[in-house]
Amino acid sequence: MFRPFHVGPAGPTYRGVPLAPEEFTWPVCGDYCGGPMQFFAHLPVEYGVLSVFVCQNDPGACDLWDATSGANRVLLFPPAGLVPVAVPEKGVTLLPAVSAITTRVVTLELEEDDGDDLPPDAYDLARSGWKREPGERFGKQREVIGSLGGSPSYLDDDRLPGCPSCSGTTEFAAHLEEGIDRQTAMNLGGQLGYVFVCRPCSEGAFLTG
Ligand SMILES: [Zn+2]
Ligand SMILES: [Zn+2]
Repeated sequence: MFRPFHVGPAGPTYRGVPLAPEEFTWPVCGDYCGGPMQFFAHLPVEYGVLSVFVCQNDPGACDLWDATSGANRVLLFPPAGLVPVAVPEKGVTLLPAVSAITTRVVTLELEEDDGDDLPPDAYDLARSGWKREPGERFGKQREVIGSLGGSPSYLDDDRLPGCPSCSGTTEFAAHLEEGIDRQTAMNLGGQLGYVFVCRPCSEGAFLTG
């Protein structure tokens, strides 16, 4: 089976000041703290740009891991006409450093399923193959900070989020890893971040697991 898959020390990301449409207002946490959220990632996808925000003002108090807590927000912007936005003066709004990210397309060649085992996880396979030398079991998978497309890695069906606007089903868009560089690391509580989108509503959902 062949399956194109994007893995990066990169998703094409740019974590600096967000680029957004003119009418953008900075997302505010709808959970405990009520403060402005932190801009996590700018993810170009074929149908636009996904902008991910997660509350980091008081991570112990706001449930950033929960898609329905109000402590995170995913917005889908059009691909063009975006401008740098004004950053709120208070709150934990930006990561300490900006990182540009590159993507690689990984084509997986999965072995024939013998029927006994669970199907292999595509993200796991793609990640463990990053910079793997011949004869090595794993590559430098910790350098990978996520993926675009594919399917959610080891996520139970009952955690698949609905769209916050229309309550319809969402489609999986990206994985986000904390990364290994302290300056640019997103706080995901040591877990994997999942980004989903509802294209008709130009909105999405985020959770960790
Ligand atoms: Zn909060
Ligand atoms: Zn929707």
